[in-house]
Amino acid sequence: NPLARARYLLAAHNYKQLPPDGGFEVAFAGRSNAGKSSALNALCQQNALARVSKTPGRTQQLVYFDVTPTGTPETEGRYLVDLPGYGYAKVPQDLQAHWQAFLDGYFGSRLALRGLVVVMDIRHPLKDYDRQMLGYAVNRGLPAHALLTKADKLGRGQQAQQLQAVRRELSSAFGDTVSVQTFSGESKQGVDEARAVVGSWLGL
Ligand code: GDP
Repeated sequence: NPLARARYLLAAHNYKQLPPDGGFEVAFAGRSNAGKSSALNALCQQNALARVSKTPGRTQQLVYFDVTPTGTPETEGRYLVDLPGYGYAKVPQDLQAHWQAFLDGYFGSRLALRGLVVVMDIRHPLKDYDRQMLGYAVNRGLPAHALLTKADKLGRGQQAQQLQAVRRELSSAFGDTVSVQTFSGESKQGVDEARAVVGSWLGL
């Protein structure tokens, strides 16, 4: 598992702080509490990897995890990028505007960005912000992959129903550039499938 070598690299508050834009990266988005940290930890087989991105008050930053194979030039790094969880009610308005501009710039011009993973609670999928994030990727011509996580909370039949419903909605809203699967950071269901998608986008 090439993602198992993931190491915290940096937290960026603005565009200038990002690593050189010459490599490959995959961004992870999701509503707060959806299960994004648990998903990153499961993909990377580490228990506390994504904890740093959860520190309260540090929500407006991009957290980079380095999965670069040894011997790769520094300017061609491979990264997982943990975007701030959205849906916090109490983010001040000027910070929200800063974040929106940062995100617009990031999705609009970051060449290294190869794909977006959107983590959604299987019981509450496709909220407004989820659709907005998917729209950013699709408008840029990037592939996106949706993880319907906490699948362990539902029985197999309900999982299949939700998967089918979300798949139908995604295809009518975004065409065939967004794929979707069930997932659980708890039971590790779907981890191999998700890892294969992310690994292929990173060229690993
Ligand atoms: P984040 O805010 O999106 O990073 O969410 P976390 O990964 O911190 O998870 C939020 C809460 O949901 C925590 O209490 C986790 O233990 C729980 N959780 C996350 N993933 C799963 C999962 O796959 N199954 C279950 N049952 N609980 C999960």
